[in-house]
Amino acid sequence: MSDYDYDLFVIGGGSGGVRAARVAAGEAGAKVALAEESRYGGTCVIRGCVPKKLMVFASGYGDMPAEARAYGWDIADGSFDWTKFSGKLNQELDRLEQVYRNLLSGSGVEMFDCRARLKDAHTVVLDDGTEKTAKNVLIATGGRPVRPEMENAGLGIVSDDIFHLPELPKSILIIGGGYIACEFACILQGLGVKVTQYYRGAQILRGFDDEARGLIAESMRERGIDLHTGTNIVEMRRALPEDYEDDDGHMATAPVEARQIGRREDDTDGQGPVWVKATNGRTGIFDQVLFATGRRPNSADMGLEDLGIELGRNGQIAVDEFSATSVPSIHAIGDVTDRVNLTPVAIREGMAYVETVFKNNPTPVDHDLIPSAVFTQPEMGTVGLSEEAAREQEPVDIFCTSFRPMQSAFAGQSARVLMKLVVSKETDKVLGCHIVAPNAGEMIQLAGIAIKMGATKADFDRTVAVHPTMSEEIVTMRNPVRSA
Ligand code: NDP
Repeated sequence: MSDYDYDLFVIGGGSGGVRAARVAAGEAGAKVALAEESRYGGTCVIRGCVPKKLMVFASGYGDMPAEARAYGWDIADGSFDWTKFSGKLNQELDRLEQVYRNLLSGSGVEMFDCRARLKDAHTVVLDDGTEKTAKNVLIATGGRPVRPEMENAGLGIVSDDIFHLPELPKSILIIGGGYIACEFACILQGLGVKVTQYYRGAQILRGFDDEARGLIAESMRERGIDLHTGTNIVEMRRALPEDYEDDDGHMATAPVEARQIGRREDDTDGQGPVWVKATNGRTGIFDQVLFATGRRPNSADMGLEDLGIELGRNGQIAVDEFSATSVPSIHAIGDVTDRVNLTPVAIREGMAYVETVFKNNPTPVDHDLIPSAVFTQPEMGTVGLSEEAAREQEPVDIFCTSFRPMQSAFAGQSARVLMKLVVSKETDKVLGCHIVAPNAGEMIQLAGIAIKMGATKADFDRTVAVHPTMSEEIVTMRNPVRSA
């Protein structure tokens, strides 16, 4: 009989923590408890991937009537009802949270709906002061969005807040050029919001393939997003009535009511337009400012430093390939370790942890060749090396095609898609695949299997095309467009 209350205590009920707890209890027969201070499902289910994707779907309908008319349908433009959508969205999130709770209780995991912190290597203290002991502790507390350090930054919202807006703003300024900034720029523009985006670097989506980033930026601008690269926010405050007097340089128009009411500078109720100054000197007024300027691991005030657990510069918990911290009984998975911050990766890390610690089968986490998608409009699906990263590594051939896809071209739209393979000159292996197209996320999942298996360009070539599709181009590119 164990001297501890539990074999495993998991802190954090997001995708990674829930999976590890379920599998340890259900498959490995461990006695498991889990503490979650907020809602079960974590960032992905409650304030990330799931509600975001539902918003992507919602925003996609905006273009459909025009396209349908081009195909002969007699159909009028409609309008979007945010209140109706967000009510339904919240019901769906409630349902999913309940599914997560049921999965845990069904596996025999004891749940504590509160915050937990570590007292020592085997003791967890709950909010009410109760102490629980465990042979093993798994930290899966995720991350949270951060605002830049600037005066009045609290006037801006972060991605968590989008799903709770009482109404959609008429105009929004989005700061940042990463996944979240670009996805919400497209979503909100599709829902009828006037979107301005400032990114401090030369091109959005740093780290992805340059050609793919370029096409996404071009498509975003074509859709009407006012994207400014090499631009950042330097000053912000609540808009005052006099800010509306001179139209010069105004990039957005606040609602009439807001102009009439005016706002005091010390008004911090989160409501009302915000006046913003950019690095290039331009000023503008926006109903909302969204900071999509990165995320930080949730590792503060957990007792980690006192235990000698090493934290990185960003607050991430340092772990080895088995997700072990410097304290043998304590492991960490998911965004709190800031390795590859994606839901399926956290889930894998949780499964590998259970294999290693509870099934006596040491399993390192494989972070190589992870396919992923950015849900901009059009989407980007990507796996492996960008052309730029591959060139640094070895000589490569680049196979690339960009074209107007049949469905939207028929409707008279100029939208283009991109299919690209980065191939090793020496081995013929496909080192990277980058797709910018509607549903590129779905396509890259399948290309990812081939590339993970080590497929060569010759393997792609001997695969018969599925016709007529967009993705057939990925197996019909005969000659490299360039070598590097
Ligand atoms: P990212 O780190 O991807 O992007 C942050 C952006 O903010 C970058 O463009 C960065 O610029 C910019 N930035 C950072 N600090 C400042 C500042 N002080 N002033 C102005 N700009 C700043 O973070 P996200 O929040 O977009 O996403 C976080 C993570 O969540 C992603 O890395 C991804 O792992 C995950 N995610 C995945 C999604 C998916 O799979 N579809 C969707 C959403 C999130 P710079 O490039 O110059 O550093």
